[in-house]
Amino acid sequence: MSDCIFCRIAAGDIPSACLYEDEHVYAFRDINPQAPVHFLVIPRAHIASMDEISAENSALAAKCLEVIPKIAARLGLSGGYRVISNCGADAGQTVFHLHFHVLAGKSLGERLV
Ligand code: AMP
Repeated sequence: MSDCIFCRIAAGDIPSACLYEDEHVYAFRDINPQAPVHFLVIPRAHIASMDEISAENSALAAKCLEVIPKIAARLGLSGGYRVISNCGADAGQTVFHLHFHVLAGKSLGERLV
């Protein structure tokens, strides 16, 4: 989708700090980090949110999840990390292209799951 910022990032039309890419998945650092380490993992294909995951496209979401421990190991996140996907207005989703936030680099505490 040409008007989707994350589609354009995955296509290389908008610069990003890439951490990983393959045929199906793109990962990059969040531009407004909420923790010392904060990156986003997205499918290259446009899926608007968790609400649009179905039997037909769930493999793409799974590929995103498979990439997370690989990046975490490379970044040395041995202390752990938190994975979040905001879905819809109440969750505060602002970019309507499925993405998984990965937050780490400090003790994140026990609040908010
Ligand atoms: P959400 O609120 O869950 O939709 O998260 C969207 C995230 O995308 C936010 O954490 C933003 O900081 C991040 N973001 C928006 N534009 C960019 C960009 N150009 N490069 C990197 N991260 C971005």
